[in-house]
Amino acid sequence: MTDIIRKNLRNHSDERQFRFSLSCTVCGKTWYSTPVMFSKAGKTPASDSKAIVYQAVYQREFSQAVTKAVEEAKGYFNFCPVCKSLVCDNCFVICDDIDMCVDCARELGETGEVVACDSIAY
Ligand SMILES: [Zn+2]
Ligand SMILES: [Zn+2]
Repeated sequence: MTDIIRKNLRNHSDERQFRFSLSCTVCGKTWYSTPVMFSKAGKTPASDSKAIVYQAVYQREFSQAVTKAVEEAKGYFNFCPVCKSLVCDNCFVICDDIDMCVDCARELGETGEVVACDSIAY
């Protein structure tokens, strides 16, 4: 699950903040992670060596932000074991045997309750 989310995250980060998005395969709605500020945002490195240091800090904070966004996304997305795609809570059905996305449930004639209707703030 973590790897799949990580692979599908889109990067919207810039030099000031880290932000990512993920789209539901079924309804296509896009969720955005909570933006995380870069600790050196707006600060101009005093020297070339400082610029390299800042660059390293950026890299480290970037990967921490990815990990955080992945954890956050887990609260809104589910992995459909049938079609192997990431779907939002609105498109995920709790079926008797195994939980799956609404598309697969329809295809396979499975019925169940949708996880949530409004858990995502778009
Ligand atoms: Zn959806
Ligand atoms: Zn599916």
